[in-house]
Amino acid sequence: MTGLRLKDVSKSFGEVTALRGVSLDVADGEFFTLVGPSGCGKTTTLRAIAGFESLDSGEVWFGEREMAGVAPEDRDVGVVFQNYALFAHMTVGENVAYGLRFRDTPGGQSKDARVAELLDLVDLAGFEDRDPDALSGGQRQRVALARALAPGPDVLLLDEPMSALDARLRKTLRKQVKRIQSELGITTVYVTHDQEEALAVSDRVAVMNDGGVEQVGRPEAVYRRPETRFVAEFLGENNVFAGEVAERGGGAGRTVRVGGQSFRVADFDAADAARGSHVTFCVRPEKLVAGGRENAVEAAVEAVEFLGESFRAHLDWEGRELVVRLSERPEDDRLRVGFAPEDAHVVSVGDRAREPEAVEEP
Ligand code: ATP
Repeated sequence: MTGLRLKDVSKSFGEVTALRGVSLDVADGEFFTLVGPSGCGKTTTLRAIAGFESLDSGEVWFGEREMAGVAPEDRDVGVVFQNYALFAHMTVGENVAYGLRFRDTPGGQSKDARVAELLDLVDLAGFEDRDPDALSGGQRQRVALARALAPGPDVLLLDEPMSALDARLRKTLRKQVKRIQSELGITTVYVTHDQEEALAVSDRVAVMNDGGVEQVGRPEAVYRRPETRFVAEFLGENNVFAGEVAERGGGAGRTVRVGGQSFRVADFDAADAARGSHVTFCVRPEKLVAGGRENAVEAAVEAVEFLGESFRAHLDWEGRELVVRLSERPEDDRLRVGFAPEDAHVVSVGDRAREPEAVEEP
């Protein structure tokens, strides 16, 4: 097994800059996910690791080995693509054995034994003689996974392998993939635009935007402490407030004025945030509570959605959209919501906060 390192990797296609200096470290045995909106460079990063893409500049390392000039088939990677069609004229067993065409079986097993072992690993024991078109979408992707794993690669690359499946099947398959990955302890880079999936399965995630990496960290850290506004809004929903520090408070707390309203926000480094500094902070929908007395505002209820375990209400507060999670459907068309000073997370201090950037819906 081996870790992976990308050093300052850049790649353009004509006028389009797909990657602008991407650096990443993936630890040995880690489940590492690249997440970001369509076109941000996830697939290009994966293809650079696999060797399918020549780089304009930068380096890719597998452990202690630099990969410049190493062909894809010599890189010890297994790849599963979004729609990696299985060969229709081959049985399931032959498809998995195809993964062994360039390699001896690990440990000198017979091909048949290796195929049976892999099909067992992906919960398809005994499916050797089936035709691929007699399989469900989820089963097909598991065969594709078995084929990628057959030669015993050091690194597994998964490019949106579940995106063609329905929501329920995706959840089942992602649990299986996670189980198989940790059973094998194989270094895995997983590409998805689905932020919920990224948070659910990964040891760490890299949030990408416009050819660059915005933030890398454990799912909880990236969700709770986004370092940029883009990350705050891309991973889960968020309420973003842009205002000015109104006064110097005691300790690390400050009063921030947003429009005509004062909010108390705890999350300041005592050193920064002089009076008048521009501040962007965010409050997750689940932290914006109805009837809260601290930092309370009154907003108009614009729309309510029933989510099963809760309601999501879209509010209008002085022309700003707020999103809250509620346990009950609001009865009035106005709602008072507030948040504890500790539940606000400061994203940036200093320069004038930029206008919100549109975040594409995944
Ligand atoms: P998606 O989630 O939609 O698959 P992505 O994050 O994987 O997107 P990439 O496929 O890496 O994004 O593409 C990054 C940018 O590079 C996009 O603007 C894309 O159009 C462009 N691009 C990728 N491959 C090529 C190519 N072979 N020729 C021209 N442009 C390309």
